[in-house]
Amino acid sequence: MRVAIIASEAVPWCKTGGLADVVGALPQALVDQSAGKVAPATFLPLYRQVRESIANDPQLQLVETGVEVAVPFSLGPERARFFEVVGHGGPPVYVLDAPHRYDRPRLYDDESGKAYPDNLYRYALLCRGALEAATALMGGVPDVVHAHDWQGGLALAYLRTRYLQTHAHTGAVMTIHNLAYQGLFAGEHRHNIDLDPSAFNLERAEYFGGLNLLKAGIAYADVTTTVSETYAQEITTPDYGCGLDGFLQARGAGRLCGIVNGVDTDVWSPATDKALPANYSVDKVAGKATCRQQLLAEMGLEAAEGEPVLGIVSRFTGQKGLDLVADLVPHLHALGARLIVLGSGDAQLEHRFRYLAECFGDHLAVRVGFDPKLARRIFAGSDILLMPSRFEPCGLNQLYAMHYGTVPVVHAVGGLRDTVLDPGDQALARGEGTGFCFEHPTVVGLHWALERAVKMYRQNPRGWQAVVRSGMTRDVSWAKPARAYLDLYHRVRGR
Ligand code: ADP
Repeated sequence: MRVAIIASEAVPWCKTGGLADVVGALPQALVDQSAGKVAPATFLPLYRQVRESIANDPQLQLVETGVEVAVPFSLGPERARFFEVVGHGGPPVYVLDAPHRYDRPRLYDDESGKAYPDNLYRYALLCRGALEAATALMGGVPDVVHAHDWQGGLALAYLRTRYLQTHAHTGAVMTIHNLAYQGLFAGEHRHNIDLDPSAFNLERAEYFGGLNLLKAGIAYADVTTTVSETYAQEITTPDYGCGLDGFLQARGAGRLCGIVNGVDTDVWSPATDKALPANYSVDKVAGKATCRQQLLAEMGLEAAEGEPVLGIVSRFTGQKGLDLVADLVPHLHALGARLIVLGSGDAQLEHRFRYLAECFGDHLAVRVGFDPKLARRIFAGSDILLMPSRFEPCGLNQLYAMHYGTVPVVHAVGGLRDTVLDPGDQALARGEGTGFCFEHPTVVGLHWALERAVKMYRQNPRGWQAVVRSGMTRDVSWAKPARAYLDLYHRVRGR
């Protein structure tokens, strides 16, 4: 079965968030779980970041495929060429070369955080180009097109209109990694991207007179998935539906399901992670203490035994509840905890954390930026990971943390609710849970859960080790989610 995966980012080529981790790991997991019967191919833009990551790895090469596309935009056909990334050992990755659209410093926005004005055209080109080229590149018409997030949404709209004849039996799957990002553009642009007129109405891509690319993808998908079961339910309610709850409800429960993300355990393993100063595993945890010591030293902090190190690795956005953490900083002293924060994004939050680090430098260290290696050292060297997200489709950091023996303290929402098990202090200490949850995203809620965690950390080291152990031994691999996607592909192919 041929599966064309269309997405805007994937590790190790380009990444701004969890989407990249998922799109990077899923194809190989699909091959493994189908015993090679499924042949996925990933389609990405050839961003500057992709070109650089390939240039920096002597094993990798960009090879011309000879496949060119001419996408019929109204200003004239937009030409682009497909290259294959060769030498990574995984399923094929095809990148669309259109320097005028993709050769830029960042993926989606300029240095001031302003979205590129031609984003609609950039992703219309990706979607249309991938569909146009997939048959030649994959050796036949894809059996399934799997589009990710708003950047992939138009692929399904084109599939069900412009490719209706040739792809009549191709199944269409849309995965929402975060409903808060929908790809909204002025409605007039639809005439420029060869969108079939039938796609622009309230049942499809239209949203209050504008174009909504995520909605387009959902409208044309046979099945829409999102990245946890709880989030799949939440987004059909006004609180979490970001204006699409009614639309999602109207499509019926059978067409929306949740599949929790996995962890690429080949890439994320404390036993082999080269970014760590010491490696360790569930049966040989000594190296974790070294990671903690070195992390404290690297960040210029000191902590005695019994004083937990709290870690945060996050985009700085309202979603992630970091304002709650900022409010908690003055209480770190009373809690006897140290906090290490790595993140970037919202300028006000960046400023606020920098300022707090100046005021509370004994207890807080902040690094503003995107640093994948430091992120790994934080997952390994912390005792506790904080994730007070207001909403969280899946969340990967809590999975990485648990896998690295770091106990998550999370708001019980979305994927955090589905992946962090908190049966109460006594059961936790017996090894029957994996972290500490709170029900309301307030400073009081976060403080309450953190106090429980700190108390157990300090007063019951054996109980704490039981929590660490159950987090580290939990199956977070891609095996189960990949099988769920395979079932879905079988359901939608051939329609
Ligand atoms: P989201 O996709 O909403 O940002 P996830 O938890 O699903 O959240 O995934 C975020 C991914 O990005 C994880 O791999 C996380 O470690 C990584 N990440 C987030 N912020 C940073 C940062 N500042 N530096 C390095 N990695 C980061």
